[in-house]
Amino acid sequence: MKICKKCNLKLPPEVFHKHSDTLDDLASNCKACNKVRAKELYKENPERHRRYATESYHRNLEVNRAKSRERAKAIPKEIKNAQARKYRLQNKEHVNEQLKKRRLADPERFKNYKRKAYVNRSEQQKEADKAYRTRYREKNRARKNELSRLYYRRIKPLILRHPKNEVPLEEQIRRKKRRLECARKRYAETPEKQHLRSAEYRSRNREKLLAALRKWAKDNPDKVKAYTKKWYAENRDRSIANSIHWVKENRERFNENNRKRLAVARTEMSDIYIKKLLKDTKSPCRIVKKEHIELKRSILTLKRELSAKGVKRFANCRPQSMS
Ligand SMILES: [Zn+2]
Repeated sequence: MKICKKCNLKLPPEVFHKHSDTLDDLASNCKACNKVRAKELYKENPERHRRYATESYHRNLEVNRAKSRERAKAIPKEIKNAQARKYRLQNKEHVNEQLKKRRLADPERFKNYKRKAYVNRSEQQKEADKAYRTRYREKNRARKNELSRLYYRRIKPLILRHPKNEVPLEEQIRRKKRRLECARKRYAETPEKQHLRSAEYRSRNREKLLAALRKWAKDNPDKVKAYTKKWYAENRDRSIANSIHWVKENRERFNENNRKRLAVARTEMSDIYIKKLLKDTKSPCRIVKKEHIELKRSILTLKRELSAKGVKRFANCRPQSMS
């Protein structure tokens, strides 16, 4: 314990400043008293104090700067960033002004500033950007597709008129091949996705596709016939099963169709109809030949004519009255 010369209080040594000229290496006045004295001195001559402070600042500029740099190095990066952010937010105008000054002083350095920052962004930020882009694309896919479709429809005539599009045939074939190749590759990589996409496309454009198919069928009846024949030949069991199923489901329509077909056959006296008549009656011919059909048709025609003239014997030969 030591007694302060100023306030005469008995105090522990911690509250005294160190002093090398004394016996106990401690100042004779306590810290509190020193503080009061310093304040008094300042009030007596503030100008002198300020001068002294300025001089001291300039005298120790390099040392102080080095020291504060060292101190700053020790602060963790996150805290520094947070502090800087806080400062920028609180001093927005000032910061902007400073930035403007710097930009004007060194325009070369600030050229393409945003671009450079974007190119040099962190790996983490790159990942985040990528994820954002993917999310955005997924979210706006339908809208974007619709817009592209509209745009393409509008400029299609222009594109077609452009001389660039008068592509030679070989090039057209090459391009088509390439497109097919790409599609095949896509399909091999993600078959489920492609199935889904094509199903979506078909359901979205159902009417359009059906209309196109109908038009094609109308323009290519021979091909349709050939395809149908081939399909039936290759899928006999399935086609029979399909027919049976259809008849079961549409009994009424099936009967109605049959009636109509029979009526038409009767009226027109088609070959099949006559053949059936010949087989139904106890006709002597096992194999029905062309001549037999012709003969039977002539007989039937004659009978019908007679019936129309009122000969009752042939009344059941009239097409409408036959059961
Ligand atoms: Zn004291």
